[in-house]
Amino acid sequence: SAAQAGLYTTSDQIILLTSENVESVLVNSSVAMVVEFYASWCGHCIAFSPVYKSLARDIREWKPAVDLAAIDCAIEQNRGVCISYSIRGYPSIMLFPAYSKADSKGHSFKAFPRDVQGLRHMIIDELEANKEPWPPACPPLEPTIQAEIDSFFETNNVQHLAMIFEEVKSYIGREVTLDLLQFENIAVRRVLNTEEGLVTKLGVTEFPSCYLYYPGGNFTRLRVNIEARSFYSYALQRLPGVVRSGKPPPVTIDVLTNNTQEPWRPFNKSGVYMADLESTLHYSLRVEVAAYPVIKGKALISLKKYVAVLAKYFPGRPIVMNLLKSANSWVQNQTGDEISYEAFKEILDNSAQSPDAALPVGVRWVGCQGSQPHLRRYPCGVWTLFHVLTVQANNIKEVLSAMRNYVHIFFGCRPCAEHFENMAREIVTEVKTLSSAALWLWSRHNRVNNRLAGALSEDPNFPKIQWPSPEMCPACHTVKENGDHKWNQQQVLNFLLSHFSSSSILTDYLE
Ligand code: FAD
Repeated sequence: SAAQAGLYTTSDQIILLTSENVESVLVNSSVAMVVEFYASWCGHCIAFSPVYKSLARDIREWKPAVDLAAIDCAIEQNRGVCISYSIRGYPSIMLFPAYSKADSKGHSFKAFPRDVQGLRHMIIDELEANKEPWPPACPPLEPTIQAEIDSFFETNNVQHLAMIFEEVKSYIGREVTLDLLQFENIAVRRVLNTEEGLVTKLGVTEFPSCYLYYPGGNFTRLRVNIEARSFYSYALQRLPGVVRSGKPPPVTIDVLTNNTQEPWRPFNKSGVYMADLESTLHYSLRVEVAAYPVIKGKALISLKKYVAVLAKYFPGRPIVMNLLKSANSWVQNQTGDEISYEAFKEILDNSAQSPDAALPVGVRWVGCQGSQPHLRRYPCGVWTLFHVLTVQANNIKEVLSAMRNYVHIFFGCRPCAEHFENMAREIVTEVKTLSSAALWLWSRHNRVNNRLAGALSEDPNFPKIQWPSPEMCPACHTVKENGDHKWNQQQVLNFLLSHFSSSSILTDYLE
C-alpha cells in the first residue's frame, strides 16, 4: 500500500496524507498542521525522516493543538496534491494554521532546521505568529503578568498553577505548557525574569525554575534533578490530582479489589515477579500456540526458536526448567514438516509424568495485574518476559529474533504484531549502534509507550511513561548541551541488568 511504500508508517504518529484524505486533514481543521512534502527516492528526505519521526514522538502531547503529516510526492496519485501546493523541491515543510481554507497555501519554509529542537521552536514561533485563529485546544503561550496571576483562581478551576520563570529567549515555558495540554487540573504559564513583581514575591533567583502556585498565594518550588523541559513535564504530569483529560482518576488499591474477579495481590510496583513470567509461559504455550492445531512452516521455525531461547535463558525454578528443557529437546527433534499441537501439548503437560518437571497451569498475574480485567496482564507479561530474556542472554540478536518471530506469528494482538514488525525491521541496521539487545528492546518499548500514552488500553493506575522514571533511576536521565532530554544509556543498561536479573525476580504468589 501507499502507506508502506513511503518513508513513514502509521505507527510513526504522523498522518499519512494522500490525495484522498488531504482535504479532510488540512482544510478547516481545529488543529494547526505541519506537513512534510517528500519524495521517497530523495536522499535528503531519507536522511531527514528519522528526525521527523523523533519530532513526532517528542511533541505527541501537543496533538490537540498542532499535528504532523507527511505526503510522498513520488506516488503518482499524490502528484496533483504536491503540484497544487507548488512543491518543487524535497523535502519541503509547510505549516497550515488552524481553520485554513481550501485555497490556503500554508506557510512554507524555504530553509528549516534539521534537528528536533530547532523544528520544535519553529513550530512554536509559527503558532505565535498565527494568533488568529488560535487552535481552540491550545493554551495561551504568551508570558503571564502579575495581574493575571492575582485573579487566576477566580477564573480558572484548576488545582495547580505551575509558573515557569525564564528568560525571554527560552522556549521551556511554552514547551511545558504544550506538554501538559492533555492533562486536567493543572495550568502552566511562563513568567519572564523581567516580571519584577512576581520574581520578587516568590524570591526567584534561578532562570529557568518552576514554582507551583496555589489559591491564597501559597507557593512552593518544583523539585527536579535538572531544570529542563523533560524534568518539569514529567513531574507536573504526575502531581496529585493531575490526570489525563477524559480519564478517571487513579483509584486506591482498596477500590481496585472490587473491580476484578480475583482478589487483588498487593505487590511492589518496581519488582519483577516470577508469577507473571510463568503465567506468560502458560498463556503463550497453551493458549496462543494452540491456535495452530498443525504447526508447520514459519510457525514451526518460530516455535523452535522460542522454545530454544526459553530453555536456554529463562531464569525459572528447577521444576519449570526441566519441563522447558524436555519440551525443547522434543521440539528440536521433530524433523518432519509439521507437528500437531496435541503432541506438543502432551510434552508441555508432562504426560510422561516425570515427577520433577512441570509448567503450572493457569494464570496468576501480580506485577501485571490491571485495575480492570481487560487491562495489562498478558501483553505486560510478554514485555516482561522478553526484557528478562534479553538481560539473561545479553547476546545481540538471538532473543530479539525469537521475540520478533513469536510476535509475528503467534501474538494474538495483530495490530501490535504489525507495529512491532515495523520496528523490528530496523534490528538489522540499528542494533549496531546500541551495545546490546536489552537496550534495543528497552528503547523500542519506550516508543510503544510513547505511542500508547493516553490510549484506551492504558490503565489509569499504571500510566505509560518513558521508563524508568527519574525516581526509579535518577542517573538514567540527563540533558544534552541544548537542554533537551537525553538518556544516559550506560546507566540505563546497568539499571536493566539489575532490574531484570534473575536474582531480582520475586517469587511471591507462586503455587
Ligand atoms: P507494559 O507496556 O506492558 O510494560 C510492562 C512492564 O514493563 C511495565 O509495567 C514496566 O514495569 C516495564 N516497562 C515499561 N516500559 C519499559 C521499557 N521501556 N523497558 C523495560 N521495561 C519497561 N498495545 C496497543 O494498544 N497497541 C499496540 O500497537 C501494541 N503493541 C504491542 C507490541 C508488543 C510486542 C507487545 C508485547 C505489546 C503491545 N501492546 C500494544 C500492548 C501494550 O504495549 C502494553 O503491553 C499493554 O497496554 C499493557 O501495558 P502495561 O501498563 O501493563 O505496561
